[in-house]
Formats: sequence, C-alpha cells, structure tokens
Amino acid sequence: MTDPSHSRALDLVRDLLADHDRWRAACTGGPRGPLPPGARDLLRTLSARLAQESTPWPAPGHLAHMTADTPLEVTLAYLCALLYNPNNIAPEASPVTTALEHEVADDLCRLVGHDPTTGWAHLCSGGHAAGYEALWIARNLRGRAVRGTLLYGRNAHYAWEKAADLLGFGRGEVEVVGVGPRHRMDMADLAARVHRLSSAGRPVTAVVVTLGTTSHGAVDDLPAVLRLREECERTYGVSFRIHVDAAYGGYFRTVDEALLTPEVRAAFRALPLADSVTVDPHKCGRAPYPAGALVLRDRRAVRAVSTRPGPFGADGDGERLPFAPYTLEGARPGAAAAAVWTAHRIVGLDTGGYGRLLGGCLRAARALHEAFAAGDGPLVSRTAPDLAVVNLTTGSADSDREWSDRLRASGVSVSSTGGAETEVPGVRLCVMDPLAPGDLERLTRVLGETAAGALSRV
Ligand SMILES: *Cc1c(COP(=O)(O)O)cnc(C)c1O
Repeated sequence: MTDPSHSRALDLVRDLLADHDRWRAACTGGPRGPLPPGARDLLRTLSARLAQESTPWPAPGHLAHMTADTPLEVTLAYLCALLYNPNNIAPEASPVTTALEHEVADDLCRLVGHDPTTGWAHLCSGGHAAGYEALWIARNLRGRAVRGTLLYGRNAHYAWEKAADLLGFGRGEVEVVGVGPRHRMDMADLAARVHRLSSAGRPVTAVVVTLGTTSHGAVDDLPAVLRLREECERTYGVSFRIHVDAAYGGYFRTVDEALLTPEVRAAFRALPLADSVTVDPHKCGRAPYPAGALVLRDRRAVRAVSTRPGPFGADGDGERLPFAPYTLEGARPGAAAAAVWTAHRIVGLDTGGYGRLLGGCLRAARALHEAFAAGDGPLVSRTAPDLAVVNLTTGSADSDREWSDRLRASGVSVSSTGGAETEVPGVRLCVMDPLAPGDLERLTRVLGETAAGALSRV
C-alpha cells in the first residue's frame, strides 16, 4: 500500500536532517561520522517496542486521558527543533526557539483575551508548574511574611494541594470549597468562607477557579467570583488574586460561542479579568509533552518573584520580558516552543481551527450524554457536560469499577472519575478528538451493549 502523504513526510524528514547536517558540518568543519555499531539495532528495538506497547491515543475508542492525537507535522516540528537542542532559558542558547516562544506567548495572551504588550505568558512543563508559579506570585504579592488563605474547590486538580504545600500554606491556610450540583465550585460556600475570613481581618491570598475540571469538564462560575471580589473590595477594602486553572479548558475559548451554554460562555468571556490563567497546550492544544503555560494579565506581577535581572545577557530587548528571571523552571525545552508555535499556526487559534475541532468534541460529548441520560440502562449520565468530558455511573462504586474494566475489555478505554470530588468513582469519557458519525455510533453501541450484557449477568 502506498500512501502519498507518508512518502511526503519521509521526504520532509530527509530535508530536515539534511539542513541539520549542513549546520553541524559548518559548526564542526566536517561531516558527522557514521552511526556507532549497534545504534541502528538499538533504535529499531526501541521503535518496535513503542509501536507494540504504546497507549493507543488516536483510537476513537480511547477516551481515558486528556491527550489528543498530535498532528504529525507538529511532532516533526518538535523533532526538527530538537536536532539543535535549544534551551529556552536564554536567547543565546536558543535564538530561534526563544523568539518562537515569544510569539507563542503573544498567541496565548490573545487566546485568554489580553493585550500581549501588557500581559505576559510563557511555556512550562505543564499545569502543575503553571499552578506553582501562579501561587508563588500570589503569595509574594501578598508579602512573604503575611500568611494568607488559599481557596480552591473540591473539584480542583490535585496539583493544587501540592502547590499549597510547596509554597508553605499551613493546614489552616487552605480552604477547600464544596461542589455544587453540576460539579462546579459551590459559590454560596465560597462567598461564606471569603466573607468570614475578610470580616475577621484575615487576608485571602488567592481563589483558584477551574474552567474545565479534570474529572467532569465542569466550568466554575468565574463571573460570580469576580463579583465576590468587588464586594470584598467595597465592604472590607481588601482584595484577592483570582487564578483560573484552564489547563484543560483554555483552548475552548476558540469555540463558536453559539455552541456554549450561557454559563460557560459567560465564564469564558470573563477570562481576561482573571489575574493569571493556566493553559496546557499539551492537552487541547494538540502539542506533544511537555507544554503547559502560565498567562498573566499584568506582566508587572512577575517582579514579585524576581529581584535581579537574568544572568548571561538574558535581559530581553526592552519590549520583550526575558524568560529566565521570572520562570519557576530554569532550562526549558525550545523544541516544545517550536511544536506549540507550529500547532497554533497549522490548526489556527480561531473558530475555524481549534474552535472547529473542540466544537466537534463538544458535540460528540453531548451526543454521548444524551444517549445515556434517559437512564434505561445501568449506566447513566446524570449531568450534561459543560465541556467534552462525560461521566457515566451506576450509582455504586464497585459496579462502576467493574464497568470500567469491562469497557476496556470491549475496546473502549475509559478512566475513573476518581478524586476527592465524588464518592462514586464513575466512568469518565474524555472526548479529545471529534468523532466521525460512524465512530460515535459504534461507541454508543459498544457502551450500550456492554451495559446490556452486564445487566443480563446480574
Ligand atoms: C491536567 C490538569 C492539571 C495538571 O496539568 P499537568 O500538565 O498534568 O501538570 C491541572 N489542572 C487541571 C484542571 C488539569 O486538567
């Protein structure tokens, strides 16, 4: 079988390697020597093992993780840049990929709704690192000596527990807010906690709001948190930072608003008012790992975490803030910046690009929800999803676990909703790629038939 697109990809790989060989020869004054003996066999063994045992991310029945199918051209961009081993800690170690990261930073500012000349963004290893950094900034802006309280929902990612611990928040300084009926943070509970703290003169360092929770894709009511902050400013003369964890949800801001429910639309419209935002290009941005990002509304906030300019001439050009003095991580992969840059340009950060892909995921998730909302089988979807994560449950923890195993055996890879949020683990389906009508039908049938089979066995 000849696949013309495959041979074009091979030609491209050859061209990329030839460019690199020329560059290397110019550096060293001669051609690269042959591969050492055994290298070919070793790499073939590695490749065979990967091809045999890797998780089948691109399969339409693979709904277990927040990993989309990465386009080949994006992976090639990563490999292409990787040949030059750029380190985005400083421009002289990575003149090209540092420039690309600045462009990606501008993309991400615009995605969130910021002016790139007053906002700021950079790539990092993922949502964990972005969260640590957002909280590091919030804590230092409050003043290192003044302990304040951090609030996040029970629906927040477990990374926040780590972040709070790492940044020295004691047990009494972390409040975990309850979750409402749609798996969103309970706004009445949040307001009660913030009022109690503020009226007692206890500072609130930050409130973390999730736009697209990991377990349910639920979108917290960001406008309500913004109103609560205004109320605190008026009533007590105190304020707090709002960080939005949109590691999963961020790219949904490109989806045509007509496809979103009014609450979700309002939350995404309010995103530019958050002080900082986590976005993971390695989730819905279709970039390879590692690619997380932190986006700041006001770039001046970075001064809270740096007291001196970067070393080795990394001071930026006056317009561009340098990365090194202000990022939590030091050495960072320039190849990741090249991949995200390419993904943004190939897919397109608009309603016709990511918006169309994610809109397709949203439609598929809704169709799955509707197929299981009626509740005539043992597995029921109780909540219409805010984004593209569907949860099915029988109502019993043991049978939900059994269900997940059985679905995996039928070729539908699912994960457990798990976490602190729900007592019953649930069967979680993440739709990371739009499903063709045939795939959607097949999936619904397998889910239904597995359900019927289980029912008859009981
Ligand atoms: C995935 C995720 C994280 C953690 O991100 P990593 O990239 O895995 O470090 C944090 N928050 C949310 C909401 C997530 O979905």
